[in-house]
Amino acid sequence: MPYPESMRASLKLLEATRAERLREVMPRMDPEEKTALLQEFHPDFRAEGMRPVRVGPNTGDRVPNEFAEQLEARSRIDPDAFDLSQIDYDVDVLVIGGGGGGSTAALIAQEHGASVLLATKLRHGDSNTTMAEGGIAAASHTHDSPYLHYLDTLGGGRYVNKPDLVQALVLDAPLVLDWLLKLGVMFDREPDGRLLCSLAGGQSRKRIHSAKDYSGLEMMRVLRDECRNRQIPVVEFSPAVELIKDEHGQCAGAILYNFDTGRYLVVRARTVVLATGASVASTSWAFPRPITTGRPPTVWSLPTGPAPACCTWTPSSTIPAGRPGRNRCWAGSVRRHSAGPEPTW
Ligand SMILES: Cc1cc2nc3c(=O)[nH]c(=O)nc-3n(C[C@H](O)[C@H](O)[C@H](O)COP(=O)(O)OP(=O)(O)OC[C@H]3O[C@@H](n4cnc5c(N)ncnc54)[C@H](O)[C@@H]3O)c2cc1C
Repeated sequence: MPYPESMRASLKLLEATRAERLREVMPRMDPEEKTALLQEFHPDFRAEGMRPVRVGPNTGDRVPNEFAEQLEARSRIDPDAFDLSQIDYDVDVLVIGGGGGGSTAALIAQEHGASVLLATKLRHGDSNTTMAEGGIAAASHTHDSPYLHYLDTLGGGRYVNKPDLVQALVLDAPLVLDWLLKLGVMFDREPDGRLLCSLAGGQSRKRIHSAKDYSGLEMMRVLRDECRNRQIPVVEFSPAVELIKDEHGQCAGAILYNFDTGRYLVVRARTVVLATGASVASTSWAFPRPITTGRPPTVWSLPTGPAPACCTWTPSSTIPAGRPGRNRCWAGSVRRHSAGPEPTW
């Protein structure tokens, strides 16, 4: 498909400045310069776009206004009218979310002998994972180590990320990479067969493993196939709208809403895995304006993704006891405790 007219001028400018840009050395910024740039352009640093959450375990956390509104919204379920005695699915593990995280959780749970149901809002694989282009970071080469990955990740997260999460990320990354390779993900390779690694922002070593520019799509292709091959039941177009608690206050399942039939589905599960992705998409205002450098303008925007799960607000209901109570239970949201610019890098 030819480029639209509106992009041609931009392309010409890109071509005209390519040689100059190839020679250009970007001066390193000191922490004060970085902070000034972030405060000017990054939505997370705009005070008026954030406010504290008023309810639930995230009370007091400053999050984007839109996200706070979602967390505080009323349930679409009327606890007095809802019948929990009709159980549609009864499984060991309910995985909510059909991206890379959810599919991986479903596969691992099944490998350990659990009966699994994967419920997802759209099609299995409609997710941020499918849109990820760059690749997956893992210290897989001899010039690298999880320790260096850890330091880079803490620095990339401006030292506000949770060290134990970062530790889990960097230690698991080589194992997960190996697992994905064994399942059949076709990561790029050097002519001699070694895995190709490239650099990413904030990384001191080449550790990004890609599949051309469709890395996430390639991973999702294999993970989804694997779920199919292992006959893991998948309920599509059925977002979880509530979590359900048992009489001990433990999460015991979820209520799904089937978009096709308009019916609610009750799932009873011993374990519920929330793998509904990030919620940055709820920031509607994105980066305020293009960063203009004399080069073709770069328009920044936050990744678009699925809406956060509604399951952070739930009626205190029991299965199979019938009438749900009125108090709500909550699943805390972990915001900005991920690794860095990309949670999985
Ligand atoms: C354009 C883009 C490029 C990226 N590039 C990179 C990269 O190069 N490297 C990198 O490491 N990361 C990258 N990322 C980030 C990375 O893709 C995500 O961090 C990662 O895929 C998250 O995986 P996940 O399974 O947790 O969530 P997702 O892949 O977002 O999956 C969440 C799933 O949950 C479903 N869902 C949501 N709400 C509900 C609900 N209530 N009930 C049921 N299902 C629900 C969604 O439909 C979806 O299927 C990129 C992201 C984007 C958008």
